[in-house]
Amino acid sequence: MSFSQLGLSPELLRALEDAGYQTPSPIQSKAIPACLEGRDVLAAAQTGTGKTAGFTLPILERLSRQPRSGKRPVRALILTPTRELAAQIGESVEKYGVHLSPRLKSDVVYGGVKVNPQITRLRDGVDILVACPGRLLDLVGQKAVRLDEVETLVLDEADRMLDMGFIHDIKKILRLVPGKRQNLLFSATFSKEIRELAGTLLNDPVSIDVAPRNTAAESVDQSIYMVEKPQRMALLTHLITHHQWSQALVFTATKHMANRVTQHLQKAGITAAAIHGNKSQNARTAALSGFKSGEVQVMVATDVAARGIDISELPNVVNFELPKTPADYVHRIGRTGRAGASGQAVSLVMPDERGQLKQIEKLIGRPIPVASAEGFDFSRAVPETPDEREQRPRGGQRRQGSGQSRNGGGGGARSGNGGNRNGSGNRSRSDGNRDEQARPARRRRRSGPRTVDNSGNR
Ligand code: ADP
Ligand code: MG
Repeated sequence: MSFSQLGLSPELLRALEDAGYQTPSPIQSKAIPACLEGRDVLAAAQTGTGKTAGFTLPILERLSRQPRSGKRPVRALILTPTRELAAQIGESVEKYGVHLSPRLKSDVVYGGVKVNPQITRLRDGVDILVACPGRLLDLVGQKAVRLDEVETLVLDEADRMLDMGFIHDIKKILRLVPGKRQNLLFSATFSKEIRELAGTLLNDPVSIDVAPRNTAAESVDQSIYMVEKPQRMALLTHLITHHQWSQALVFTATKHMANRVTQHLQKAGITAAAIHGNKSQNARTAALSGFKSGEVQVMVATDVAARGIDISELPNVVNFELPKTPADYVHRIGRTGRAGASGQAVSLVMPDERGQLKQIEKLIGRPIPVASAEGFDFSRAVPETPDEREQRPRGGQRRQGSGQSRNGGGGGARSGNGGNRNGSGNRSRSDGNRDEQARPARRRRRSGPRTVDNSGNR
């Protein structure tokens, strides 16, 4: 199968050639023809499988067949949960559409940055608008944009949008777009909620499910290190330096911990930057571009901030803390091993995270092998800071087995104790004061992508 067999114009094929794409990915070869026919599409495919081109190429193709001039109405609306993802999709739209003549106009809008420049830009009209739901609604409220000529509506990372509580905004947006339209729903996972949304949104959809559900890319080499809390920082630094990782994306459960880890790495002489919802949009953009250019060796991120970010050839992903939602594990490690490149995903697992580990292993359908931290002195404990201590369970609730026990203290070799490591992990949620992170983030007020900042503790 080649791109030229998919019914795309020579101008788009040229852009794909420029991008170095040789053959369509499985999701692309299924989604593109269906989208071009004008069908509704429900597509689930693991991260890094090229979903973006799966919907942007047919949109560009269809719109370019009927170019408009002057003040154009939005004809394709792409909704996406995070600013970074919106920006990334916007870049793809520009990249793939570069040879079209006349050019289609596209724009990207999200919260956390000034609204007035967005209003000014939208005044001239755009064909394709990539938006985070909250800011889009703000803009509609300010009469900066109308959605009543939308022909194609895309929900990208739909599972994440639901997780982040965007459902109400999505429903509002659905009331603003024409009833007769094409709907494309893309998701990394196929949860019950996604199927429900698809049931209400989609009209006789073509269903595409190219990857086994909830499995991480085959090309990702996964392993875990059993570790006690005071050793985590030192182990992370050790792994980065000992293995001479050129670059790593490190995940934490909270913004606060993202900052702490970043500071720790910086003290150890590693160029690190944090990316999370409390950072200004400029700081986030700077961190991401520093990381993409290679100036920043380690980027420390929360789930929400890193969602969908595509960094080519990212070799290492580290779960400094396991995600509360097992599906997030799949999303996180999907940041490496993209588009067939090989990648490594390492998880540091503390005794009180064993329940979460179990759930993750259940989801991905296999145990994750335990690695040994060669050359790491497990007695190297970094004293817990007052800040870190705050994260501890309150009221003496610390479960047995999470203190000094099985893997703590001495021994280096960590392999082969797969039975052991599950020993005390019979609760799915861990500490009392972390429960807020176990729940899906709920929005408190309608403020659009800024809810990234408001969403629980992420
Ligand atoms: P997803 O949305 O499924 O997580 P993306 O659309 O972000 O994945 O694509 C992942 C990476 O693969 C991007 O860097 C993209 O440029 C690249 N890519 C997409 N399609 C192809 C292709 N057909 N050939 C080569 N690389 C591709
Ligand atoms: Mg994507």
